[in-house]
Amino acid sequence: MSRVYNFSAGPSMLPEEVLKTAAAEMLDYHGCGQSVMEMSHRSKVFDEIIKSAEASLRELMRIPDNYKVLFLQGGASTQFAAIPLNFMNGSGKADYVVTGQWAKKAAAEAKKYGEVNIVASSADKTFSYIPKLDKAAFTPDADYFYICMNNTIYGTVYHELPDTGKVPLIADISSCFLSEPLDVSKFGMLYGGAQKNVAPAGLTICIIREDLLGHARDITPTMLDYKTHADADSLYNTPPCYTIYICKLVLDWLKENGGLEAMRERNVKKAKLLYDYLDNSKLFRGTVVPEDRSLMNVPFVTDSDELNAKFVKEAAEAGLVNLKGHRTVGGMRASIYNAMPYEGVQALVDFMAKFEKENA
Ligand SMILES: *Cc1c(COP(=O)(O)O)cnc(C)c1O
Repeated sequence: MSRVYNFSAGPSMLPEEVLKTAAAEMLDYHGCGQSVMEMSHRSKVFDEIIKSAEASLRELMRIPDNYKVLFLQGGASTQFAAIPLNFMNGSGKADYVVTGQWAKKAAAEAKKYGEVNIVASSADKTFSYIPKLDKAAFTPDADYFYICMNNTIYGTVYHELPDTGKVPLIADISSCFLSEPLDVSKFGMLYGGAQKNVAPAGLTICIIREDLLGHARDITPTMLDYKTHADADSLYNTPPCYTIYICKLVLDWLKENGGLEAMRERNVKKAKLLYDYLDNSKLFRGTVVPEDRSLMNVPFVTDSDELNAKFVKEAAEAGLVNLKGHRTVGGMRASIYNAMPYEGVQALVDFMAKFEKENA
């Protein structure tokens, strides 16, 4: 068996140890004679799995007690509607910063339900930077302030959070979930699809300050009302059981490997290797301004579409797969989430150097 280095933006690599544990436990989970795939979500065994996942997430992210943790379905994209339905309940206004496709989609969805103020956008330069925010442009009585923290497609990240005062800050952290420590208390809500850095596809994790719950609009579908799931400990209906189980294994792996401080150290080291190479290359260059570069998603290009395509093809043949950039951007993108080992990034950089020499 030979495994490739998978640079996909998501679904993406999982730690090999996790996959091995899941394989070993596939037919008989801890002596209960069933796979986790087969068991009732109301069983004692599964209850222990979901409780353990929540406890580990709380421990790793130091989630304060006045926040609920929800394990949901529907992907990050479903939250684009659920957020206004649950929280656009005072002035009916919300502030959005548009730093890429995902923030743009979230803002467009919110517009269906209320007044959306686009505080700033980086669309003018293909979202290659995080716009400086002018507090005078904030809506003082907004029901919430929305950002996409790490922009998966464009490779930017907020290194500094907007100061929104009393207005709850809501952040999509799909592609930087658990990649480094984050002060949860600064947010009204954090959420993300798990398939980037936490688990296989099918699970969306929402972390919500309790006082924000219980004010959803009357028309909110029961399944989109966060309170439904908060009151039922994420067991209102059948949750994505097997994905939650893999999530639990990933969280165990994170704890065994030093938690989020250690992840940050690992991720900084990996990203630096790649950015340093890009900054010194004569063929390749990164597309993001240095101060807003993401640790997780690294887009880069050559000046030739032909060479870009050749690179992606030859890299795949060398076991470095899914390096093609997003269809809206072109070029290349290396997603180097927690599960990507340093050796994988080293192999990529070595391959880039070889390619650069051959195509000089
Ligand atoms: C992938 C991604 C999404 C979309 O996630 P789905 O789970 O496919 O709906 C939203 N936001 C960000 C930042 C993403 O990376």
